[in-house]
Amino acid sequence: MKVEKELLKEWDKTYVWHPFTQMAEYVKFDPIIIERGEGCWLYDIDGRKYLDAVGSIWCNVHGHNVKELNEALIEQVNKIAHSTLLGLSNVPAVLLAKRIVDIAPKGLNHVFYSDDGSTAMEVALKMAYQYWQLKGEKKRTKFVKLDEAYHGDTVGSVSIGGIDLFHSMFRELMFETYKIPSPHPYRFDGTPEECRDYALSKLEEVLEKHGEEVAAVVLEPLVQAAAGIIVHPEGFLKGVRELCNKYNVLLILDEVATGFGKTGKMFACEWEGVTPDIMAISKGLTAGYMPLAITLATDEVYEAFWGGDYGSGKTFFHGHTFTGNPLGCAVALANLDLFEKKGYPESLKPKIDYLYRKLYEELSELKHVGDIRGKGFMVGIELVKDKKTKEGFSWKDDVGRRVSRRIVEKGVFTRPLGPVLVIMPPLAISEEEIDFMVKTYRDAIVEVL
Ligand code: PLP
Repeated sequence: MKVEKELLKEWDKTYVWHPFTQMAEYVKFDPIIIERGEGCWLYDIDGRKYLDAVGSIWCNVHGHNVKELNEALIEQVNKIAHSTLLGLSNVPAVLLAKRIVDIAPKGLNHVFYSDDGSTAMEVALKMAYQYWQLKGEKKRTKFVKLDEAYHGDTVGSVSIGGIDLFHSMFRELMFETYKIPSPHPYRFDGTPEECRDYALSKLEEVLEKHGEEVAAVVLEPLVQAAAGIIVHPEGFLKGVRELCNKYNVLLILDEVATGFGKTGKMFACEWEGVTPDIMAISKGLTAGYMPLAITLATDEVYEAFWGGDYGSGKTFFHGHTFTGNPLGCAVALANLDLFEKKGYPESLKPKIDYLYRKLYEELSELKHVGDIRGKGFMVGIELVKDKKTKEGFSWKDDVGRRVSRRIVEKGVFTRPLGPVLVIMPPLAISEEEIDFMVKTYRDAIVEVL
């Protein structure tokens, strides 16, 4: 069906309910409708192009329209597009499980498939909950989460979320949790070490008081992305692992955003040599090509579910129609081949250094740039009213959105997190593209503020 551009835009505004979007606001602007992609660029139906500075919501790895990934998909679709993983298996799902176990932190030997980051976290929660039921510690039903946490939008993952704007509306639906402060050095009155120790002391307080009811501590390792790219101080993750060991609670890590080279290591927890008991991955798993997710578990967790008949309570009754989808698994395998071929993530170091050099050179002197923070390809640029006092802009100022809109007008696609401008490009971005991206952010900030 060939449809005129203007009609497509009209239908977009009329029929498509966009996620995380105030539609009354959305319809005021000419919609950008993407038709194709090439490398790190998106092309819309008006023939305009945009550098994809947020990697199509943090998942793209090698760019768009990548020959090797396309071919893997085509090869698989010519065999079979989907068969169930309930009672059957499929070749790419088996091969991928083995490849993922080989690259994951040692000890995470079991792969449970699902469809996206939220469902991977939903699986993690149910797995941890049932684990303790099976171990006979039936009181361990609660989770500890971080302030400003984001783990997805299903009801379980909303319950372990901490961003009021997104989550408070659903309070009545959410299960009870314990919340500890997120260690956010820029917003903490003290050194990064004090910031870390403060958050750890709060975790210990909760575990000391309520530890026997806690099933797991849940967190995004190193970088809390949706919170505004909060980068935890060194040693925090290690400290959390130690406290989990001390109080005998599970550690669930959400590597949905941080996984697959985004922080400069394959998985963020490698920075601190931490192995969780359960770990969720998605986004970069398929290089951003297909919806697919995995929840990894240790032998200890897996073996608690082992044996008995279906009525014994030991089966993990969870699974989705597209669990272990062969297309997703095939493209994920091709993604890992490309990681090997390109020497990712190790070979990314010079490019990451270049990115930060550019960011500091171009942006740090600007009047309203309060903080440039990040790890690897996850960068947040916090805009503030007053750099000295760190006073932020008010909600009404809407600075993040206004500046981001100007960035988009100038040919770079981005999406802010409140007053924080975000950069999370495909790992494949070139130095020339970094130059263009950073200059565009700079120009837009100067023009708007
Ligand atoms: N966990 C983290 C850390 C995320 O950043 C996200 C999404 O941005 C999710 C979970 C949810 O993933 P999805 O949107 O694929 O459900």
